[in-house]
Amino acid sequence: MKTQVFTINDPSEAAEQLKAAGQIIRNGGLVVFPTETVYGLGGDGTNPDAAAGIYAAKGRPSDNPLIIHIADPEDADAYAYTCPLYFALAKAFMPGPLTVIMPKRDRVPFSVTGGLDSVAVRCPSHPVANALIRAAGTCIAAPSANTSGKPSPTEASHVLQDLNGKVDVIIDGGECEIGLESTIVKILQDDQGQPYLLLLRPGAITHDALCCVCPRVDIAPAVAERLAENERPLSPGMKYRHYAPTAPLVLLDGDAADVLAFLRAEQAAKKCCVLCFDEEADALAGGQLIPVGARDDLATQAKRLFAALREADATDAEIIYAHLPPKDGLGLALYNRMIRAAAHTVLKI
Ligand code: AMP
Ligand code: MG
Repeated sequence: MKTQVFTINDPSEAAEQLKAAGQIIRNGGLVVFPTETVYGLGGDGTNPDAAAGIYAAKGRPSDNPLIIHIADPEDADAYAYTCPLYFALAKAFMPGPLTVIMPKRDRVPFSVTGGLDSVAVRCPSHPVANALIRAAGTCIAAPSANTSGKPSPTEASHVLQDLNGKVDVIIDGGECEIGLESTIVKILQDDQGQPYLLLLRPGAITHDALCCVCPRVDIAPAVAERLAENERPLSPGMKYRHYAPTAPLVLLDGDAADVLAFLRAEQAAKKCCVLCFDEEADALAGGQLIPVGARDDLATQAKRLFAALREADATDAEIIYAHLPPKDGLGLALYNRMIRAAAHTVLKI
């Protein structure tokens, strides 16, 4: 298949291209599009054949469900059984980087939900994503647009590395603003019939922010801990091996000065690649360095993480070092991605 690349920064100047891309989705084809989180690999969320095409292009196991993307939070009613808590979340965070899991309606095929009777719904804020969903006139099922097992793509060049020749169109909308996948919550009911949330994947909408809308937000243990052998995951994606670089990634936990001294000694002894804070770059100059942002700037670290992991993988380093992120605020989302990429290898300095 020949993949076309459309560059769209302003949807109002790309009506023809968006119309063509929307038609491709309606015909069962695949279109990669930018969102505020990461790039998505989109197909018609009501078409089982499109879902099969998405799984094939990504090389993803078909029991790992897809998120459906809608243009307006109200459209969720067409695909899921919504409730007042959904609309409270929508009012606070949509459009934006939040995915909500609710019971699915029949219109959503089981091939999209990996056989589950619930569906994950998100309304992205990226103008190009919104314009594409409107042009398609249907919901767009989309996982991240990477080959399964690679870091999620935050730039069109990453998508080309993984999916060139496997999709009809790639829409290049520049670098993704957030750089980590959406926060995922599931709406559940307690013994008294009161709704509450289970946080399945942390993202830019933090636990604290969710707690402002819903008094009870449980965090699934697998978010920060290793899943025990034979443990049934609460969300199918949790059971799959996530991206791990070819060289082992080791996360360093310790006092700033001690970690810096450790890194300098390691640099002198072996070929290592360091995902460093910007303020460490001078002290570590000479080795292979990938600055990921200032120590206190978690938003920039989140934005650069996946590109940095791809870059680190392309070096000849025998080991990759990075800092262990904090577990609060946006740190939890970084922690969740990095601890998996490191296969839970943390070195206390
Ligand atoms: P991705 O599409 O790569 O962002 O991954 C989406 C993730 O959402 C999957 O790996 C699942 O873990 C999760 N997910 C989607 N739908 C459901 C659902 N109905 N129930 C539980 N988890 C879901
Ligand atoms: Mg993914």
